[in-house]
Amino acid sequence: KNNELRCIGCGAVLQSEDVTKSGYLPASVLDKKSADDPVYCKRCFRLRHYNEVQDIELSDDDFLNMLHELNEENALIVNVIDIFDFNGSIISGIQRFAGNNPIVIVANKSDLLPKSLGEGKLRQWVTEQVHSYGIRPQNVYLISALNKASVEAFMEALDKERQGKNVYVVGTTNVGKSTLINQIINIATDSEDTITTSYFPGTTLGKIEIPLDDEKVLVDTPGIIQKSQLSHFLDAKDLKIVTPRKEVKPKNYQLNDNQTLFFGGLARFDYLMGEEKESFVCYVSNELYIHRTKTERADELYANQLGELLTPPNAESAADFPALKRHEFKIKEPSDIVFSGLGWVSIDAADITVAGWAPEGVDVTMRKQLI
Ligand code: GDP
Repeated sequence: KNNELRCIGCGAVLQSEDVTKSGYLPASVLDKKSADDPVYCKRCFRLRHYNEVQDIELSDDDFLNMLHELNEENALIVNVIDIFDFNGSIISGIQRFAGNNPIVIVANKSDLLPKSLGEGKLRQWVTEQVHSYGIRPQNVYLISALNKASVEAFMEALDKERQGKNVYVVGTTNVGKSTLINQIINIATDSEDTITTSYFPGTTLGKIEIPLDDEKVLVDTPGIIQKSQLSHFLDAKDLKIVTPRKEVKPKNYQLNDNQTLFFGGLARFDYLMGEEKESFVCYVSNELYIHRTKTERADELYANQLGELLTPPNAESAADFPALKRHEFKIKEPSDIVFSGLGWVSIDAADITVAGWAPEGVDVTMRKQLI
């Protein structure tokens, strides 16, 4: 009767099936508990004993209920996004869900972009992009959650930004929300028992409340799963290759039309029509292998070399890797072709035609050039 048990920290129903969902506790522990035992889920346990936050994922229903609750509160909503996976980490409905509450956009992982890129230009680009999604933020911040000083500066700004309100931190999974919250806990509290957990009414979701210095709290909400993430098709080792850890070094390719670039076996870029020797600058993880070939040979190469020369995916996961789907674009102004979760190709040329390929379900989009 384990499904009757709830975590006494966050109120989530305890379960041993899925470590990424709320209420997880290993079966070895859960099976020993009876209905009267006070028991914490793994997430609350780690929080209580190690002051460490782990992100969990939530279902669409729980997400909607959570947003509904947000809507009834007078709070500041902080939406963390990943600057390197901008389009993949944006929550397009956030403005509608926020109701009358102000939104602050926090663009994380700014350490991955070239240092040469000015902060002003970057902020302006982020602001324009969120506007194009219909989001009207009260402010936009660039941070690196890995960098304590950067989070400290943000915390200070946030104190003015929130005007005495509670703060709700929301974001899709993998944007670095836990890393940020852990830094904040580090900075904001020196005693562990001041942090509390509770749950959103009408959901199975735990929320973590970190006290601010005026009786108000900063609330960490569970990460929202983005369905179209490339990461769903990769195992842990391949994901490490694809996820940039350090400042990304731009790789510049001079291509003639009818030439193709493969990003391992995960994505493909074709230069279809235009002048000779155009410049295509790739912003992907430094560890990801880029292979150049003639477009007419690309299909055959992919069929023969997926999981071998064209890796990741590795030889094992290549067998179930979904076929690449083609998206064609006419470039009219300096643009990026974005492979969600992987990176982008930056293009200065106008009046050319290109195609981007990625597994079905992974977005390939065109946007205004970032760099
Ligand atoms: P969450 O799912 O949003 O809670 O994301 P995590 O905090 O677990 O972070 C996801 C990945 O991004 C981890 O590998 C982190 O180390 C990494 N990460 C988080 N913040 C930053 C950052 O500011 N810069 C870089 N380069 N990586 C980060």
